[in-house]
Amino acid sequence: MSSKIRHPLAGEMPLARVLDDLTREGALYEKLDGARVRCCACAHRCAINDGARGVCQVRYNRGGALFVPDGYVAALNPDPTEKKPFFHILPGSITLTFGMLGCDLHCANCQNWNISQALRDPEAGGAPQIASAEQIVALARRAGAQLIGSSYNEPLITSEWAVEIFKLAQAHNIRGVYVSNGNATREVLEFIRPYVVGLKIDLKTMQDKQYRQLGTALSHVLDTIRLAKEMGFWIEIVTLVIPGFNDSNAELMDAARFIRSVSPDIPWHVTAFHPDYKMTDAAFTPASTLLRAAEIGQEAGLHFVYAGNLPGSVKSYENTYCPKCNTVLVERYAYRILRDKLTGEGACPKCGEKIAGIWQ
Ligand code: SF4
Repeated sequence: MSSKIRHPLAGEMPLARVLDDLTREGALYEKLDGARVRCCACAHRCAINDGARGVCQVRYNRGGALFVPDGYVAALNPDPTEKKPFFHILPGSITLTFGMLGCDLHCANCQNWNISQALRDPEAGGAPQIASAEQIVALARRAGAQLIGSSYNEPLITSEWAVEIFKLAQAHNIRGVYVSNGNATREVLEFIRPYVVGLKIDLKTMQDKQYRQLGTALSHVLDTIRLAKEMGFWIEIVTLVIPGFNDSNAELMDAARFIRSVSPDIPWHVTAFHPDYKMTDAAFTPASTLLRAAEIGQEAGLHFVYAGNLPGSVKSYENTYCPKCNTVLVERYAYRILRDKLTGEGACPKCGEKIAGIWQ
């Protein structure tokens, strides 16, 4: 498809009005008294009056029905699956990744703020490009993608559109993944479960006070991780380590122990921060901090700890090792697979240990 098709009205009227046109009635809501509705696509569970919007700004009540984003993308790229990052799903594959506009959080360090904050920040500049599910799936097939991912902005808030695309993709053996902030509900996880195999979830901090600054509560994210595991999603967790925000040994150990308590087989990616958006006063994360975080993850008993986005500077923490015999199984440099020695079934070729993940 042409990625240049733009809504004919974009740029000539307020973005919110343009987006209101690119909607349909949602599935993830209930009707309340007096034409109010309650959305359950994320843990905010907004009660929305007729004519008003939810916290995310992109789901709104029109005449007692909830209207939700539909029929456009704001970003669309064939990416390495390792970039999501998923290190335990089909190494070396392509994930056709799309994003829309809006977010239910407002992180000061958002790296995709041009689309996630498009309805809150007039500087953001993200714009919709009209697309159909058929066009997106056709593009995924042309790109040779084995996965299709909702990412860049928060996928939970646009789950109806994602499911429409994923259903079609599934018919072509292309599996769905979400790259999410984890501010989910049981309802939304049940809604996407038939079409989504993997969830990347951010664990941004272990301090509730810090999470509230970003726009949610720590308990919502921890509950999502536990529930997603229980429901059988493949989960990988990312902590962006920000100097002075979440990089103390105690906090990193808390995060690692929590993940360990859910499952030692959940991969934990600790990644480096660079100043962005409204968080320009914190320093770049040095490789030494990522190494310290990764060592804490290992000490806590996690089987798979990865130090991301400083390729070549994080020793062996880009690779996957067998948790039983320590054989190197997948060697990586950044998003590139240098060597993959896993057996077809995803086992260690030396000791036969089955490695957790989706390998086929
Ligand atoms: S997705 Fe979340 S923020 Fe948006 S309307 Fe629904 S509950 Fe509110």
